[in-house]
Amino acid sequence: MPSTKKILFLPGDGIGPEVMAQVRRVMDWLVASGRASFEVEDGLVGGSAYDAHGTPLHDDTMKLALAADAVLLGAVGGPKWDNLDFSLKPERGLLRLRKDMELFANLRPALVFDALAEASSLKTELVAGLDILIVRELTGGVYFGQPRGISDLPNGERRGVNTQVYDTHEIVRVARVAFDLAGKRDKRLCSVEKANVMESGLLWREEVTKIGTTEFPDIALSHMYADNCAMQLVRQPKQFDVIVTDNLFGDLLSDCAAMLTGSLGMLPSASLGEADANGARKAMYEPVHGSAPDIAGQNKANPLATILSFSMMLRYSFDMGVEADLIDQAVRDVLADGIRTGDIMQPGKTLVGTSGMGDALLAKLAAHG
Ligand code: NAD
Repeated sequence: MPSTKKILFLPGDGIGPEVMAQVRRVMDWLVASGRASFEVEDGLVGGSAYDAHGTPLHDDTMKLALAADAVLLGAVGGPKWDNLDFSLKPERGLLRLRKDMELFANLRPALVFDALAEASSLKTELVAGLDILIVRELTGGVYFGQPRGISDLPNGERRGVNTQVYDTHEIVRVARVAFDLAGKRDKRLCSVEKANVMESGLLWREEVTKIGTTEFPDIALSHMYADNCAMQLVRQPKQFDVIVTDNLFGDLLSDCAAMLTGSLGMLPSASLGEADANGARKAMYEPVHGSAPDIAGQNKANPLATILSFSMMLRYSFDMGVEADLIDQAVRDVLADGIRTGDIMQPGKTLVGTSGMGDALLAKLAAHG
């Protein structure tokens, strides 16, 4: 019998609960077919937590997150909570989870399913079969560095300051995650910075090189300036396997890579923390999209980004690559059959709702017995 994994479910707001309900069906199938055993706790985050507890993340929920083997989150936010004080906004719940779980490595795969290759803004031949992974440093760099702020100058002007700063340990730990992941893929890692004009970039390059030489000699390491990387991503994206980069460049490059795939409703993500003595990492998995208030409650949301986030959880937190492959293949098969939610609809294909997409996926999984 497989060991029981403790998962915290945080559906959140808007389409979050709808897409998470489809993940539950996939989990139930894994359990019923004897492939996995899960203990699931449910919690509130974002606007729904604010409505229930007056805070976007209750301390008790935070404790559950820290005690779980992994957290799966739907989405947070919506117009109902737009005018709340900054400290109470739904997004603060998400940021607290990332901060208190110390999730420093953000994994954003950009995977183009053959059936959707035509939906990309790039030519089909440039993106068909694309499978790259961007590892973004998530808790350091210019978004957090001190000093920061806006000050008044004696000459009547104002000055805005943010500081790009990285210490060795921050670079080394995210580099290790990226090297490790490259080892499970095509064994190629491209480290991205601007060592030509930034000292923090030079340090980044030196430290990543050191880790590569001493700990991961079997991974082919290359370096690229961030501006060139942006160009290469739209010129010839298939040249990359894994990219590792800092918080600011990762923010931009992962969104750029995401759009190569054509749809927000298909994009999963993972955020990982430090490994404990047993090699287990704190981890949170979530789709890249938001709560989509415009379609919430209408059975229109595409659940595949969240289902693919769950598949990442199986692969990266639970070492269940076989089961993750089953789910990924079922997604591929459903798309190949022409089943589409509205966001990825194409002429001549079959339009289904959120639960209809779940039905189609379950049917593919059931075919595996
Ligand atoms: P969004 O991602 O929610 O929606 C953008 C557009 O994409 C909308 O037209 C929406 O209908 C569509 N869309 C998104 N996900 C979809 C899916 N799974 N299936 C089909 N269509 C989908 O971004 P937004 O409209 O800018 O933000 C809405 C709310 O979500 C805001 O409150 C924002 O703060 C929040 N948000 C939350 C997260 C998060 O929880 N991680 C991320 C981004 C935005």
